[in-house]
Amino acid sequence: MNLDKNIYEILKQPDRVLTVSIPVKMDNGEVKIFTGYRSQYNNALGPYKGGIRYHWNVTLDEVKALSFWMTIKCATVNIPMGGSKGGIIVNPKELSPGELERMSRGYIQKIWREIGSDKDVPAPDVYTNPTIMGWMRDEFEKLIGKKDPGVITGKAIADGGSEGREKATAQGGVYCVRELAKKKGLKPTETTVAVQGMGNVGGYMAKLLAKDGYKIVALSDSKGGVYNQDGVDPDKAEEIKKAGGMLGCYCLGGVCALEEMPKDGPCKHVSNEDLLELPVDILVPAALENQITKENVGRVKAKYIVEMANGPTTPEADELLKERGIIVVPDVLANAGGVTVSCFEWEQNNKGERWTEEQVLAKLEPMMVNAFNEVWDTAEKYGVTLREGAFVKAIERVANKTVIK
Ligand code: NAD
Repeated sequence: MNLDKNIYEILKQPDRVLTVSIPVKMDNGEVKIFTGYRSQYNNALGPYKGGIRYHWNVTLDEVKALSFWMTIKCATVNIPMGGSKGGIIVNPKELSPGELERMSRGYIQKIWREIGSDKDVPAPDVYTNPTIMGWMRDEFEKLIGKKDPGVITGKAIADGGSEGREKATAQGGVYCVRELAKKKGLKPTETTVAVQGMGNVGGYMAKLLAKDGYKIVALSDSKGGVYNQDGVDPDKAEEIKKAGGMLGCYCLGGVCALEEMPKDGPCKHVSNEDLLELPVDILVPAALENQITKENVGRVKAKYIVEMANGPTTPEADELLKERGIIVVPDVLANAGGVTVSCFEWEQNNKGERWTEEQVLAKLEPMMVNAFNEVWDTAEKYGVTLREGAFVKAIERVANKTVIK
């Protein structure tokens, strides 16, 4: 890129990092201190933006790295936001609802001077949700003495959240797959797909791709997966899961119970590891980080990988995929539909507007399509992977807006 050395120096570390102690009165009357972080990496393009994670393994380094990632993601899709991330070292499942609320409000009491709709806009991440976002917004508004609904996104709809947010990440991924299909001449009905992780993102992704005509052949969740080369109906697979606790796959012919399938039939159980190695055209990791590693990458048979999870491919595996010519649509592009609709929520709150789901998706589509094509063109121009192309495009944008005094 011939990047100005000064810009490189600026981008090497976050603008600001907060470490806070949060005293929480527990239900038994004792006070427990929790440690929280907020890393504000870069705001050249707009207010910092990034989720808050509650997890027992949260570290400052992790939060800093994720805040850099957010900077790249927002810049890749060209939304007017910078990058940040927050976290508290806690196992939220061990707290009562009251303790969780007091801790969430306590975190805001410690960082409120550095956030706001024009400064830094948090959102949910691992083990945080719209209810927690509602408490945080309320605490923030009490402290500043006025309304500022755009201070936090990922709120419940009744609390100022955006229509369409729930499926936005998957929908953004589907727009990327459509563009990829145009570039590579893929016909949906002849293209097989395996999805790892039937959660919010993977579940919607599988259903939306099936609606587009793609042949979903494998699905999984934390308990394992199912594979049927004749096709799996994601809706029905989920129905079976609700009824029996496991994903099922053989509902295409109207039969939906696991036991009713002949043992030598086309439907097989697969482990999550096996799912990654199936002979499919498109692999969609939509669960956890570090799934495709240097150990298993040699056995990956997919021609395309669409990263809906954050960081599913390790850097070593990424190099090997590049050598093998497997095209990876990187996380910072593929799953950026989520933060884009979070940005729409912020915009609606700031303008006092409410958009319908149709309006939200009509705005999301051109943004994802443009981002995909810009990343594609940048990768071609520099002769690099799509991931490198996304980073080049994003850093170009941040660099162009960085003022060196
Ligand atoms: P989720 O908790 O709704 O779903 C996660 C799914 O993964 C669950 O179905 C779970 O059973 C499954 N899972 C857990 N361990 C697994 C394993 N070992 N193998 C296979 N599946 C496993 O989470 P989500 O919101 O769908 O997020 C999934 C990924 O997408 C995460 O990496 C997240 O960071 C990323 N992401 C989410 C959003 C969003 O808007 N929700 C936005 C950007 C990125």
